Amino acid sequence: MICYLASMAAASDPPAAGSLLEVALAEARTGLAEGGVPIGAAVFDREGSLVSAGHNLCLQEDDILLHAETVAIRRSGRLSVYGDKVLVTTLVPCWYCSGLIRYLGFGRVVVGDSTSFPSPTLGWLRESGVRVDELDDAECTALLQRYIEEHPDVWYGDPGVATALLDDASAENGG
Ligand SMILES: [Zn+2]
Repeated sequence: MICYLASMAAASDPPAAGSLLEVALAEARTGLAEGGVPIGAAVFDREGSLVSAGHNLCLQEDDILLHAETVAIRRSGRLSVYGDKVLVTTLVPCWYCSGLIRYLGFGRVVVGDSTSFPSPTLGWLRESGVRVDELDDAECTALLQRYIEEHPDVWYGDPGVATALLDDASAENGG
């Protein structure tokens, strides 16, 4: 009986965020090797088993909507429930991806780098009851920062980034 209770407790512990991030980070590195923007994401179930993974394909596919999160989520197939799933991403999700996270009802989001992209979405997700873990992972930040330094035209030429920077500037100026 003790063993049974112990295994029940272990099963209800959320999977360690750091190990989940490794999968998303590997996706980001794959994207970079393909000549793309190094952002990766993965979907896990509540026990920490991998459901799907993907990376940003905007450049590779010439498609502005193929963010890492949306690619990973599309590859999860057509699940009936997302509330028990964990979305892991190397970069703080934009409004487009955050809308999808809320739309599908993800229960938990794990973010590697919360600072390289000015996005106020994490507060919005938390308000809606999503558990958000910010890992401040140095490797995620270094990978993307190096890319931005080497490819400022790609990064700042993205309309989503440009809009986020404008929103951020107007928020800092008091609206
Ligand atoms: Zn996005």
